[in-house]
This record gives sequence, structure tokens and C-alpha cells, in this order.
Amino acid sequence: MPTTVDVLVIGAGPAGLVAAAELARHGVRAAVVGGPPGAAHEVRLHSRTLELLDAAGLDLRHTGRQYGEVRVGDYAVGLDRGETPYPYMLVVPDAEFGARLNVPIVDAPVESLSDGPLGAVVRAGGEEFLARYVIDTAGTWLAARFGVRSEESGVLGHYRAGRVFFAGDAAHRSPDTGGLGLNLAVQDAMNLSWKLAYVCRGLASDSLLHTYHAERRVVAAEALRGERLLRGPLRRVLRLGGVRDRVGGLFSQLGTHYRHTAFSRSHREHGARAAGDRVPDAGGLYRLLRSPGYLLVGAGATAVGLLRQVGEVYTGLVRPYLLGGGDASVPAIEDSRGDLRRRMRIGDGDLALVRPDGYLAFRLPGTVAALLPNLLGAWVVTRSATPELTPTHSVLG
Ligand SMILES: Cc1cc2nc3c(=O)[nH]c(=O)nc-3n(C[C@H](O)[C@H](O)[C@H](O)COP(=O)(O)OP(=O)(O)OC[C@H]3O[C@@H](n4cnc5c(N)ncnc54)[C@H](O)[C@@H]3O)c2cc1C
Repeated sequence: MPTTVDVLVIGAGPAGLVAAAELARHGVRAAVVGGPPGAAHEVRLHSRTLELLDAAGLDLRHTGRQYGEVRVGDYAVGLDRGETPYPYMLVVPDAEFGARLNVPIVDAPVESLSDGPLGAVVRAGGEEFLARYVIDTAGTWLAARFGVRSEESGVLGHYRAGRVFFAGDAAHRSPDTGGLGLNLAVQDAMNLSWKLAYVCRGLASDSLLHTYHAERRVVAAEALRGERLLRGPLRRVLRLGGVRDRVGGLFSQLGTHYRHTAFSRSHREHGARAAGDRVPDAGGLYRLLRSPGYLLVGAGATAVGLLRQVGEVYTGLVRPYLLGGGDASVPAIEDSRGDLRRRMRIGDGDLALVRPDGYLAFRLPGTVAALLPNLLGAWVVTRSATPELTPTHSVLG
């Protein structure tokens, strides 16, 4: 009898280990099948990756060496972009990285794999698994079932084939080993895992999974293009401060956003704003992200009613917060200096839904707050009947 799992992860490199750890954090146990580890080496982790790992509970600050700048040719490229708790590059042994994640692994390469009506059947180390979804970080499924990567850009044409998702080096590979490969791999895993967990738990529809390809492929293509330019034409103009600034942004990945997807566009068409933006490190938001789930942040008296209702209907899935506090029934984010309000542009009556991976699902102006149930339903559903959420006015105090 095969062991039935929601998700089988092929490969125990950074993408596979982070994916399994994140799935577990979001309530889904995955089996990880790993091949032999590669040669040990040090890796450079950049700001956005460190932010995401921190949210996942992996604080590497005291394990490695921090650098506020990196040398590219004759020039020092500054990495401190401000607005992040990690204004530097961290160099750590990759073994340390894996060990910290503490994920159980079937320590054997995949022997066979096939797709069937009930799931993917994967054999490894004498064990057989029946999986609803597969995350292929080793390129194994890719090579066996869909041919090898053909794109000249180094990026796969599609990150999903049926129940199989490709992540990390299996989805994109740069010839430059000192590049961003691990950073992109970790970010892929962080982007995909919570979505898979929500779908496996019946808390989101399969359409949420389409956003993985739509969001991550563009990011990888741009990063690899940036790396290629850096080996050629960009290197020749590094004397220009503006160019060095862009290169710093390429490394830090702090400018990564998901505004370009159809999902984000459809939110904008409904009057929502900022869909796909990275949320700022303000008001203790990053600390709140360490607990899994969505955050719904609102401001002002008119937001209180909806915040309270969402907290009741989506208990444990969407945590409501009132900026500045003032109502005992909704937890407060102090934001005494108004940093979060300013940087997320949340005015009185506005609401902002923060995804579990620290990006904005949307910011909803108070004037169209009645759209909240519709927009929220695209991201997370409750097992109960469609919730009735009605904008109500409440007096603070
Ligand atoms: C010397 C060196 C330095 C680097 N420095 C950096 C850096 O500073 N910053 C950076 O961002 N990137 C760096 N990289 C790139 C980075 O290491 C990779 O991009 C990253 O490891 C990709 O992670 P991954 O999990 O996608 O793939 P991998 O790390 O390749 O993991 C895939 C795993 O799948 C396993 N596997 C293979 N075949 C099978 C099979 N049949 N069945 C099951 N499992 C299988 C492999 O054993 C491996 O453990 C460096 C690479 C090298 C070689």
C-alpha cells in the first residue's frame, strides 16, 4: 500500500526543505524525497530572502557574516536599501541552512514516478507514495515526463504541469553559480507552500495555485536577465551611481512584487489598490507574520465592524488588526509614529489584506469596503456557507 500524502517534495535542497517546512507551518505534512547532497559551499542570502526566512521562523542572523556591500568588478555595490530589518547580505554555510530547517527526509533518489487519476505515484528508497501534489525541485519529473528545459533564458515556460509544480533550480537556472539561485529557490518555495497548504486543507480554490507561475516566473526571468546584463553591458557602466543602485536592488530583491498578475489586475479593476506589493517592515507587521495566516489591517471607526466580523468568520485564518487600536473587540497595532499607516497608505475606513508570505493581497479604500467579501473569497474560503459580511459603523472607545 502506498503512503498517501497531500504533497510530495522531490529534492532536499533549499527549495525542497523550505517548501516542506512551510507546508508543515501551514498545517500540511509533506514527504520529502532527497538525492545525494551536493558539495558543501557557502551561500549568500539577500535581504528579501532573509525577511521571508525570518517570517518562517528561521533567524540566521547569528550564524553567518554580514556584508553591507558587495564588490562587482572595481566597484562596491551598496546593499543597504533601508526599510528592512536585514539591510545586508548574509554569508552562511549551506549545510547550516539545511540543518536549521530540521525536515525529515526519505534519503534516497526517486526510482520511478507516474501520474494517475488518484494522484502522482512516486517510488524512492523502497517506499511508494501517492501524492495529490508534487513539488519537483530536482528536475526529476521534468526530465522523465515533460522533456528537459528548453528555454534559452534558463527559465521554464510553465511552472506547473497538472499536479506537479517546479521550483528552484528545476524552474530556472543561472550559469553563474555565485548568483541568486538559492535566493530565488527559497522565495519560490515560500510563495508556493502556503497556497498548496490552503488548497489541501480546503481553505482556498485551485485557482490560487495559478498565481504561483504567474508571480514567480516573471521574477526569475528578470533576475536572470539582470545577472546576464551584469556579466556584460551593466558591468561597463558600474561607475554610475544609479546603475550601482539598480544592481543593489537586483541582489536585495526588496523590489520584488506581484503587481503584474491577472489576479492583481482583477483586484485593481474592482477598485482595490497595491495588490502584489511587498508589505513594509513597520508597526511590528513582520513579527505578526511569524504566525501563519492572513492579516486584515484596518483603520478608523468605520473599519471596526468588518474587522470584527472577519475575525469571527475566518477564525485562525484571517487575523484582524485595528491600526492605532481603540476598540476592545479587535486587536491593535500601535503604530504610534504612523509608519505603517503612511507606508501602506491606509486611511480611515481602509482595509488591507496581507498574505501569509508578506505581500499585499489588496488595499481596499473605505469607499468600496463592501467589496471585501468578494475579494477575500478569492484568497481564502471558510468551510461554512458563504459568509455574510456587512460594512457597519462602530464608535471607537
Ligand atoms: C559553489 C556554489 C555557490 C553558490 N552560491 C550561491 C549564492 O551565494 N547565492 C545563491 O543564491 N545561490 C548560490 N548558488 C546556487 C544555489 O546553490 C542553487 O541555486 C540552489 O541550491 C538551488 O536550490 P534548489 O533546492 O532549487 O536545488 P538544489 O540545491 O540543486 O537541490 C535539489 C536537490 O535534489 C536532489 N536530487 C537530485 N536528483 C534527485 C532525484 N532523482 N531524486 C530525489 N532528489 C534528487 C539533489 O541531491 C539536491 O539535493 C551556488 C551554487 C554553487 C554550486
